[in-house]
Amino acid sequence: MPDTTAFKQKLLDQKTELEDRISRVKQSIRRPPSTTDWEDLATERENSEVVDALGNAAVKELEQVKAALMRIERRRYFICDRCCHEIEVARLEAMPYTTVCRHCAENDD
Ligand SMILES: [Zn+2]
Repeated sequence: MPDTTAFKQKLLDQKTELEDRISRVKQSIRRPPSTTDWEDLATERENSEVVDALGNAAVKELEQVKAALMRIERRRYFICDRCCHEIEVARLEAMPYTTVCRHCAENDD
């Protein structure tokens, strides 16, 4: 079984970065509107929706990263969730938190 050290480090870095991004997003959401102008308020609300979407994406990604770290702990990192075969190392290098092998991902409908 391939070594997980490099993957673990990569995932931990990603986790730190995501947690950082999420806390920044939360701060910008908490900020009260800086203007009372109606049109500006509408723009700000739109911006906060974008921020919200970014935050949600980051939260979702963080969950995947945490799940991948858990898989490493359980020595399941290289095992496909679907077919129980080994996940290609190159695939994990490109997508460190994937849970399925290339074959299963291609047949994912
Ligand atoms: Zn598979």
